Amino acid sequence: MSSSSLSRSASSHPLAPYGWDTGWEAEFAVYAGQGLLPGRVVRVDRGQCDVVTAGGTVRADTAFVTPHDPLRVVCTGDWVAVEPAGDPRYVRTYLPRRSAFVRSTSSKRSEGQVLAANVDHAIVAVSLAAELDLARIERFLALAWESGAQPLVVLTKADLVADPVTLSHLVEDVESAAPGVQVCAVSSLGGDGLDVLGAVVAGGTSVLLGQSGAGKSTLANALVGEDVMRVHAIRDVDGKGRHTTTTRNLLVLPGGGVFIDTPGLRGVGLWDAESGVGQVFAEIEELARECRFHDCAHGAEPGCAVLAALDDGRLAQRRLDSYRKLQRENQWIVAKTDARARAELRRDWKRKGAEGRAAMEFKRGRR
Ligand code: ZN
Repeated sequence: MSSSSLSRSASSHPLAPYGWDTGWEAEFAVYAGQGLLPGRVVRVDRGQCDVVTAGGTVRADTAFVTPHDPLRVVCTGDWVAVEPAGDPRYVRTYLPRRSAFVRSTSSKRSEGQVLAANVDHAIVAVSLAAELDLARIERFLALAWESGAQPLVVLTKADLVADPVTLSHLVEDVESAAPGVQVCAVSSLGGDGLDVLGAVVAGGTSVLLGQSGAGKSTLANALVGEDVMRVHAIRDVDGKGRHTTTTRNLLVLPGGGVFIDTPGLRGVGLWDAESGVGQVFAEIEELARECRFHDCAHGAEPGCAVLAALDDGRLAQRRLDSYRKLQRENQWIVAKTDARARAELRRDWKRKGAEGRAAMEFKRGRR
Protein backbone atom coordinates (compact mmCIF):
# COMPACT_ATOMS: atom_id res chain seq x y z
CA MET A 1 0.00 0.00 0.00
CA SER A 2 1.42 3.40 -0.94
CA SER A 3 1.90 6.03 1.73
CA SER A 4 -0.65 8.36 0.10
CA SER A 5 -3.40 5.75 0.19
CA LEU A 6 -2.38 4.97 3.77
CA SER A 7 -2.73 8.60 4.83
CA ARG A 8 -6.08 8.94 3.05
CA SER A 9 -7.54 5.96 4.84
CA ALA A 10 -6.08 7.07 8.21
CA SER A 11 -7.41 10.62 7.93
CA SER A 12 -10.92 9.47 6.99
CA HIS A 13 -10.91 6.83 9.76
CA PRO A 14 -13.64 7.33 12.38
CA LEU A 15 -10.89 7.44 15.02
CA ALA A 16 -8.94 10.22 13.26
CA PRO A 17 -10.39 12.88 15.63
CA TYR A 18 -8.92 10.80 18.48
CA GLY A 19 -5.45 10.93 16.94
CA TRP A 20 -5.44 7.83 14.71
CA ASP A 21 -2.79 8.27 12.01
CA THR A 22 -0.74 6.29 9.50
CA GLY A 23 1.80 5.42 12.19
CA TRP A 24 -0.81 3.80 14.44
CA GLU A 25 -2.38 2.14 11.40
CA ALA A 26 0.94 0.54 10.50
CA GLU A 27 1.56 -0.57 14.10
CA PHE A 28 -1.91 -2.04 14.28
CA ALA A 29 -1.80 -3.98 10.97
CA VAL A 30 -0.75 -7.24 12.61
CA TYR A 31 -3.67 -7.08 15.08
CA ALA A 32 -6.14 -6.12 12.36
CA GLY A 33 -5.06 -9.33 10.67
CA GLN A 34 -6.12 -11.19 13.82
CA GLY A 35 -9.60 -9.65 13.67
CA LEU A 36 -9.01 -7.27 16.61
CA LEU A 37 -10.36 -3.71 16.68
CA PRO A 38 -8.29 -0.57 17.32
CA GLY A 39 -9.38 1.83 20.02
CA ARG A 40 -8.13 4.56 22.33
CA VAL A 41 -8.48 4.33 26.10
CA VAL A 42 -10.51 7.24 27.47
CA ARG A 43 -10.71 6.03 31.06
CA VAL A 44 -9.25 3.32 33.29
CA ASP A 45 -10.52 1.96 36.57
CA ARG A 46 -10.17 -1.22 38.59
CA GLY A 47 -9.18 -3.71 35.93
CA GLN A 48 -11.45 -2.29 33.27
CA CYS A 49 -11.23 0.52 30.79
CA ASP A 50 -13.43 2.49 28.43
CA VAL A 51 -12.19 2.28 24.87
CA VAL A 52 -13.47 4.42 22.03
CA THR A 53 -13.62 2.38 18.83
CA ALA A 54 -14.95 3.06 15.34
CA GLY A 55 -18.25 1.55 16.46
CA GLY A 56 -18.55 3.54 19.70
CA THR A 57 -17.29 3.33 23.26
CA VAL A 58 -16.89 -0.14 24.74
CA ARG A 59 -16.05 -1.33 28.24
CA ALA A 60 -13.20 -3.82 28.16
CA ASP A 61 -11.38 -5.99 30.66
CA THR A 62 -7.64 -5.44 31.01
CA ALA A 63 -6.75 -8.81 32.59
CA PHE A 64 -4.47 -9.69 29.66
CA VAL A 65 -2.47 -6.48 29.93
CA THR A 66 -2.03 -5.98 33.68
CA PRO A 67 1.33 -7.54 34.50
CA HIS A 68 3.23 -6.94 37.72
CA ASP A 69 5.05 -3.92 36.34
CA PRO A 70 2.88 -0.83 36.98
CA LEU A 71 4.56 0.98 34.09
CA ARG A 72 3.09 -1.55 31.70
CA VAL A 73 -0.51 -1.20 32.83
CA VAL A 74 -2.96 0.24 30.30
CA CYS A 75 -3.57 3.95 30.88
CA THR A 76 -5.61 6.80 29.45
CA GLY A 77 -4.35 7.71 25.98
CA ASP A 78 -3.13 4.21 25.06
CA TRP A 79 -4.04 2.75 21.69
CA VAL A 80 -5.22 -0.81 22.25
CA ALA A 81 -6.29 -3.91 20.35
CA VAL A 82 -9.67 -4.99 21.68
CA GLU A 83 -11.71 -8.11 20.94
CA PRO A 84 -14.61 -7.52 18.50
CA ALA A 85 -17.11 -9.32 20.73
CA GLY A 86 -17.44 -11.28 23.96
CA ASP A 87 -18.67 -10.82 27.50
CA PRO A 88 -16.48 -9.50 28.87
CA ARG A 89 -14.46 -8.19 25.95
CA TYR A 90 -10.73 -8.17 26.56
CA VAL A 91 -8.00 -5.72 25.64
CA ARG A 92 -5.39 -8.02 24.07
CA THR A 93 -2.50 -5.58 23.93
CA TYR A 94 -1.58 -1.92 23.60
CA LEU A 95 0.58 -0.33 20.91
CA PRO A 96 4.09 0.89 21.84
CA ARG A 97 3.78 4.33 23.45
CA ARG A 98 5.17 7.41 21.73
CA SER A 99 5.33 9.22 25.06
CA ALA A 100 4.18 8.72 28.63
CA PHE A 101 3.77 10.79 31.78
CA VAL A 102 4.97 8.93 34.84
CA ARG A 103 4.56 9.84 38.48
CA SER A 104 6.71 8.43 41.23
CA THR A 105 4.74 6.67 43.91
CA SER A 106 5.31 7.03 47.61
CA SER A 107 5.56 3.27 48.04
CA LYS A 108 8.78 1.68 49.31
CA ARG A 109 9.52 0.16 45.91
CA SER A 110 9.21 3.63 44.42
CA GLU A 111 7.91 2.42 41.08
CA GLY A 112 6.40 4.91 38.72
CA GLN A 113 2.78 5.08 37.73
CA VAL A 114 1.80 5.96 34.17
CA LEU A 115 -0.68 8.83 34.16
CA ALA A 116 -1.18 9.47 30.44
CA ALA A 117 0.18 7.97 27.24
CA ASN A 118 0.81 9.25 23.71
CA VAL A 119 0.82 12.93 24.62
CA ASP A 120 2.20 15.33 21.98
CA HIS A 121 1.98 18.66 23.83
CA ALA A 122 2.52 19.34 27.51
CA ILE A 123 1.06 22.74 28.34
CA VAL A 124 2.70 24.16 31.45
CA ALA A 125 0.32 26.73 32.95
CA VAL A 126 1.91 29.53 34.97
CA SER A 127 -0.12 32.29 36.61
CA LEU A 128 0.96 35.90 36.20
CA ALA A 129 -1.10 36.74 39.28
CA ALA A 130 1.80 35.52 41.44
CA GLU A 131 5.53 36.25 41.27
CA LEU A 132 7.23 34.12 38.61
CA ASP A 133 8.97 31.06 40.04
CA LEU A 134 11.37 30.09 37.26
CA ALA A 135 12.72 27.09 39.18
CA ARG A 136 9.23 25.65 39.39
CA ILE A 137 8.72 26.19 35.66
CA GLU A 138 12.02 24.38 35.03
CA ARG A 139 10.75 21.41 37.06
CA PHE A 140 7.62 21.11 34.98
CA LEU A 141 9.63 21.47 31.77
CA ALA A 142 11.99 18.67 32.82
CA LEU A 143 9.00 16.45 33.42
CA ALA A 144 7.49 17.37 30.05
CA TRP A 145 10.70 16.70 28.08
CA GLU A 146 11.20 13.42 29.90
CA SER A 147 7.72 12.24 28.94
CA GLY A 148 8.56 12.64 25.28
CA ALA A 149 6.00 15.41 24.74
CA GLN A 150 6.85 18.89 23.41
CA PRO A 151 6.39 21.44 26.20
CA LEU A 152 4.64 24.79 25.78
CA VAL A 153 4.50 27.42 28.53
CA VAL A 154 1.26 29.37 28.84
CA LEU A 155 1.31 32.43 31.08
CA THR A 156 -2.26 32.81 32.33
CA LYS A 157 -4.07 35.83 33.73
CA ALA A 158 -2.10 38.13 31.39
CA ASP A 159 -4.92 40.66 31.76
CA LEU A 160 -3.55 41.37 35.26
CA VAL A 161 -0.38 42.82 33.72
CA ALA A 162 -1.55 46.16 32.37
CA ASP A 163 1.77 47.36 30.94
CA PRO A 164 2.71 45.60 27.65
CA VAL A 165 6.43 46.29 28.23
CA THR A 166 6.27 44.57 31.62
CA LEU A 167 4.41 41.66 30.03
CA SER A 168 7.04 41.20 27.32
CA HIS A 169 9.79 41.26 29.98
CA LEU A 170 7.98 38.51 31.91
CA VAL A 171 7.72 36.44 28.72
CA GLU A 172 11.46 36.97 28.10
CA ASP A 173 12.29 35.88 31.66
CA VAL A 174 10.38 32.63 31.15
CA GLU A 175 11.97 32.11 27.72
CA SER A 176 15.40 32.38 29.37
CA ALA A 177 14.44 29.40 31.54
CA ALA A 178 12.89 27.44 28.69
CA PRO A 179 15.21 26.92 25.69
CA GLY A 180 13.42 25.29 22.76
CA VAL A 181 9.99 26.00 24.24
CA GLN A 182 7.30 28.34 22.92
CA VAL A 183 6.06 30.76 25.59
CA CYS A 184 2.76 32.58 25.16
CA ALA A 185 0.64 34.77 27.39
CA VAL A 186 -3.11 34.32 27.45
CA SER A 187 -5.92 36.22 29.01
CA SER A 188 -8.73 33.79 29.65
CA LEU A 189 -11.09 36.68 30.26
CA GLY A 190 -10.51 38.52 27.02
CA GLY A 191 -9.43 35.47 25.06
CA ASP A 192 -6.12 37.07 23.99
CA GLY A 193 -3.58 34.39 23.05
CA LEU A 194 -6.09 31.56 23.14
CA ASP A 195 -6.03 31.28 19.33
CA VAL A 196 -2.28 30.53 19.48
CA LEU A 197 -2.88 27.87 22.11
CA GLY A 198 -5.84 26.42 20.21
CA ALA A 199 -3.75 26.09 17.06
CA VAL A 200 -1.02 24.19 18.95
CA VAL A 201 -3.35 21.76 20.70
CA ALA A 202 -5.28 21.09 17.46
CA GLY A 203 -2.23 19.19 16.24
CA GLY A 204 -2.31 16.21 18.58
CA THR A 205 -2.91 15.14 22.15
CA SER A 206 -2.33 17.61 24.99
CA VAL A 207 -2.16 17.63 28.76
CA LEU A 208 -2.14 20.54 31.18
CA LEU A 209 0.48 20.73 33.91
CA GLY A 210 1.04 23.33 36.60
CA GLN A 211 0.57 23.94 40.28
CA SER A 212 -2.86 24.66 41.72
CA GLY A 213 -3.93 28.23 41.15
CA ALA A 214 -2.09 28.36 37.81
CA GLY A 215 -5.37 28.76 35.96
CA LYS A 216 -5.54 25.21 34.59
CA SER A 217 -9.30 24.82 35.00
CA THR A 218 -9.99 28.13 33.27
CA LEU A 219 -7.65 27.17 30.44
CA ALA A 220 -9.23 23.74 30.12
CA ASN A 221 -12.68 25.29 30.01
CA ALA A 222 -11.56 27.75 27.37
CA LEU A 223 -10.15 24.93 25.21
CA VAL A 224 -13.11 22.61 25.60
CA GLY A 225 -15.58 25.43 25.07
CA GLU A 226 -17.73 24.78 28.09
CA ASP A 227 -17.38 23.48 31.61
CA VAL A 228 -14.99 20.53 31.44
CA MET A 229 -16.53 18.58 34.26
CA ARG A 230 -19.93 18.69 32.64
CA VAL A 231 -18.49 17.60 29.31
CA HIS A 232 -16.65 14.75 31.05
CA ALA A 233 -19.95 13.16 31.99
CA ILE A 234 -21.06 11.68 28.70
CA ARG A 235 -23.94 9.31 28.38
CA ASP A 236 -22.81 6.07 26.86
CA VAL A 237 -24.43 2.80 25.95
CA ASP A 238 -22.68 -0.12 27.60
CA GLY A 239 -22.20 -3.62 26.16
CA LYS A 240 -25.68 -4.69 27.21
CA GLY A 241 -27.42 -1.71 25.60
CA ARG A 242 -27.97 0.13 28.89
CA HIS A 243 -27.46 3.85 29.13
CA THR A 244 -24.78 4.73 31.64
CA THR A 245 -23.10 7.94 32.66
CA THR A 246 -19.33 7.70 32.66
CA THR A 247 -16.49 10.09 33.24
CA ARG A 248 -14.00 10.40 30.43
CA ASN A 249 -10.46 11.54 30.99
CA LEU A 250 -9.82 11.98 27.28
CA LEU A 251 -11.82 14.45 25.22
CA VAL A 252 -11.90 15.53 21.60
CA LEU A 253 -11.66 19.33 21.44
CA PRO A 254 -14.18 21.28 19.33
CA GLY A 255 -11.32 23.06 17.51
CA GLY A 256 -9.47 19.78 16.84
CA GLY A 257 -7.01 17.85 18.94
CA VAL A 258 -7.40 15.67 22.01
CA PHE A 259 -7.19 16.72 25.64
CA ILE A 260 -6.28 14.33 28.49
CA ASP A 261 -7.13 15.33 32.03
CA THR A 262 -6.53 12.58 34.59
CA PRO A 263 -6.68 13.37 38.30
CA GLY A 264 -3.09 12.21 38.86
CA LEU A 265 -1.65 14.62 36.31
CA ARG A 266 -2.62 17.57 38.47
CA GLY A 267 -0.17 16.56 41.19
CA VAL A 268 2.58 15.17 39.03
CA GLY A 269 6.19 15.34 40.26
CA LEU A 270 9.65 14.73 38.91
CA TRP A 271 10.54 11.13 38.17
CA ASP A 272 13.78 10.09 36.55
CA ALA A 273 13.86 13.17 34.38
CA GLU A 274 17.61 13.03 33.72
CA SER A 275 17.41 13.70 30.00
CA GLY A 276 14.53 16.10 30.62
CA VAL A 277 16.73 18.15 32.97
CA GLY A 278 19.41 18.27 30.28
CA GLN A 279 16.96 19.73 27.80
CA VAL A 280 15.68 22.37 30.21
CA PHE A 281 19.27 23.50 30.79
CA ALA A 282 20.48 23.02 27.24
CA GLU A 283 22.76 26.08 27.32
CA ILE A 284 24.56 24.77 30.44
CA GLU A 285 25.03 21.32 28.89
CA GLU A 286 26.39 23.04 25.80
CA LEU A 287 28.86 25.11 27.86
CA ALA A 288 29.92 21.98 29.75
CA ARG A 289 31.09 20.43 26.49
CA GLU A 290 33.69 23.22 26.31
CA CYS A 291 35.10 22.46 29.78
CA ARG A 292 38.70 21.24 29.74
CA PHE A 293 37.85 18.11 31.72
CA HIS A 294 35.22 15.70 30.48
CA ASP A 295 33.95 15.03 34.03
CA CYS A 296 34.13 18.69 35.13
CA ALA A 297 31.85 19.39 38.09
CA HIS A 298 32.03 23.15 37.43
CA GLY A 299 33.31 23.71 40.96
CA ALA A 300 36.91 24.98 40.92
CA GLU A 301 38.34 23.07 37.96
CA PRO A 302 40.70 24.96 35.63
CA GLY A 303 39.37 25.62 32.13
CA CYS A 304 35.73 25.40 33.22
CA ALA A 305 33.53 26.98 30.54
CA VAL A 306 30.47 27.06 32.82
CA LEU A 307 32.28 29.13 35.48
CA ALA A 308 33.69 31.40 32.75
CA ALA A 309 30.17 32.05 31.44
CA LEU A 310 29.06 32.76 35.00
CA ASP A 311 31.93 35.26 35.39
CA ASP A 312 31.21 37.26 32.26
CA GLY A 313 27.45 37.25 32.78
CA ARG A 314 26.46 34.94 29.92
CA LEU A 315 25.03 32.50 32.45
CA ALA A 316 22.88 33.50 35.44
CA GLN A 317 23.81 32.08 38.85
CA ARG A 318 20.13 31.26 39.39
CA ARG A 319 20.13 28.95 36.34
CA LEU A 320 23.20 27.05 37.54
CA ASP A 321 21.78 26.68 41.07
CA SER A 322 18.48 25.42 39.69
CA TYR A 323 20.28 22.96 37.39
CA ARG A 324 22.29 21.52 40.28
CA LYS A 325 19.25 21.24 42.51
CA LEU A 326 17.22 19.37 39.88
CA GLN A 327 20.16 17.08 39.12
CA ARG A 328 20.64 16.19 42.79
CA GLU A 329 16.96 15.51 43.28
CA ASN A 330 16.82 13.44 40.14
CA GLN A 331 19.84 11.33 41.09
CA TRP A 332 18.23 10.58 44.41
CA ILE A 333 15.03 9.44 42.76
CA VAL A 334 16.89 7.40 40.15
CA ALA A 335 18.84 5.57 42.86
CA LYS A 336 15.56 4.44 44.38
CA THR A 337 14.00 3.14 41.22
CA ASP A 338 14.24 -0.08 39.34
CA ALA A 339 16.87 -0.10 36.60
CA ARG A 340 15.02 -2.48 34.32
CA ALA A 341 11.86 -0.38 34.28
CA ARG A 342 13.92 2.70 33.45
CA ALA A 343 15.67 0.93 30.58
CA GLU A 344 12.32 -0.05 29.10
CA LEU A 345 10.98 3.47 29.41
CA ARG A 346 14.08 4.87 27.75
CA ARG A 347 13.72 2.49 24.81
CA ASP A 348 10.08 3.48 24.34
CA TRP A 349 10.81 7.19 24.54
CA LYS A 350 14.12 7.40 22.75
CA ARG A 351 12.58 8.16 19.40
CA LYS A 352 10.34 10.90 20.76
CA GLY A 353 13.21 12.43 22.74
CA ALA A 354 15.33 12.63 19.60
CA GLU A 355 12.49 14.46 17.86
CA GLY A 356 12.23 16.93 20.74
CA ARG A 357 15.95 17.63 20.60
CA ALA A 358 15.83 18.06 16.82
CA ALA A 359 13.00 20.57 17.20
CA MET A 360 15.03 22.44 19.80
CA GLU A 361 18.15 22.51 17.61
CA PHE A 362 16.02 23.83 14.76
CA LYS A 363 14.54 26.55 16.90
CA ARG A 364 17.89 27.62 18.30
CA GLY A 365 19.46 27.58 14.86
CA ARG A 366 16.93 30.13 13.73
CA ARG A 367 17.90 32.67 16.38
ZN1 ZN B 1 33.07 22.94 33.99
